[in-house]
Amino acid sequence: MDLEEKLRILGSEARYDVSCSSTGSARMRWQEDAERGCQPGIYYSRADDGRCLPLLKILFTNRCIYDCAYCVNRSSARRPRVSFTPQEVAKLTMHYYRRHIVQGLFLSSGVLVSPDHTMERLVLTARMLRMKRGFRGYIHLKVIPGASPELIRDAGLFADRLSVNIELPSERSLRFLAPNKTHETILRPMGEISRHIEMDREESRAFPGTLPFARAGQTTQLIVGATPESDLEIVHLAEELYRVYGLQRVYYAGFVPVSEDPRLPLLPEPPLLREHRLYQADWLLRRYGFAARELVDEEHPYLDGELDPKSAWALRNLHYFPVEVNRADFEELLRVPGIGTRSARRIVSARRLHSLDLASLSKLGVVCKRARYFVTCSGRYYCDPRFGEEDIRRHIRTCFDPAGSGGARGEQMRMFGEPAACLTGRGPCSALPRGSGIEGAASRLTPEDALSSASGEL
Ligand code: SF4
Repeated sequence: MDLEEKLRILGSEARYDVSCSSTGSARMRWQEDAERGCQPGIYYSRADDGRCLPLLKILFTNRCIYDCAYCVNRSSARRPRVSFTPQEVAKLTMHYYRRHIVQGLFLSSGVLVSPDHTMERLVLTARMLRMKRGFRGYIHLKVIPGASPELIRDAGLFADRLSVNIELPSERSLRFLAPNKTHETILRPMGEISRHIEMDREESRAFPGTLPFARAGQTTQLIVGATPESDLEIVHLAEELYRVYGLQRVYYAGFVPVSEDPRLPLLPEPPLLREHRLYQADWLLRRYGFAARELVDEEHPYLDGELDPKSAWALRNLHYFPVEVNRADFEELLRVPGIGTRSARRIVSARRLHSLDLASLSKLGVVCKRARYFVTCSGRYYCDPRFGEEDIRRHIRTCFDPAGSGGARGEQMRMFGEPAACLTGRGPCSALPRGSGIEGAASRLTPEDALSSASGEL
């Protein structure tokens, strides 16, 4: 098979791995390109600082010795199998990089022969790019669960970012749907990566100029809705992963059935609204100082389908409000629905010059349709003081979903029509349809909801 055909197959299947995010518009452009047959494997990923990076995103191979029930490349699936060589991946990457079409490589893979055999090839590819080809772009390598510590150490020397997919929220579910994997084989590499990153930090203090180990950190992704775990379990797991392994990001991928397997649930639609709420909750964990127990608990094991998690938290904690915007400290402002990190910073700086009212909050980027129920401006409350939890909930819902078309409690918001055939496949290591988290799900949310979530003004 020629290189072009390999790229078409392995580039197309790699897009289902969501452990690096893309922008909605860029992904659509990439999909259109892919459908037109242009530039297969080119994918737009959103960096942590907000920049959009075009990447060559491919699988090393779609062969796999494992048989994970949710995966399009499982060993029992009948499909054309193909593999690159390290030389071919290096050649393709340099081809696109020299022409400024991509700024980096995202390399994932099925499990060929054994975890170590596959990992050796991924590391060899990265080494070849760095040492022989002088490649200075970004490299994200997928770490194969069960790979040996030596190979993980080598991978981190050549890659900017590493990711090990945790796949499913519990060991029980993993045993059920992916019997070849265990949480131990997944968490051990995560621990290795985290240990090397920590050691590297100390070494670079002692020996400035040492080669940084996976300088962009590590990420993971998990499938939501294929197994019965609640949001309570998922949000607590994410919090634990951030705390113990220092992950940069946890990516969530709503389950879409792609193969006939009696172990898989029959869902009427992919749980995209749930995925979106998990991304919002994750954002609150990472950027807003929320703890998992504040967002979900035994009484509320699922995130609110009607409201974003911050508004839902605020309604359960009305005793905390209203917050006086002209006096509250930064952390208090961050707890107000509709005030994000950026607008909180602007408020703190603007109020040094003059006192703020609702109109000025709006100019500072506050989503006042949410915030007005939870703030006072120089003692003035802009809503009916008799409003209780249900009234505020109803008003926020009406503002953000005037037609009442989606997001009703217990209903799944429809994010797109019938899934296209090309979107119902799964890629390697829990690769799932759609490119990423928040913007994928947000594409059919109300504009204000999508905008406020994507900009972090939750
Ligand atoms: S999820 Fe990964 S390990 Fe499992 S069958 Fe797919 S490619 Fe193989």
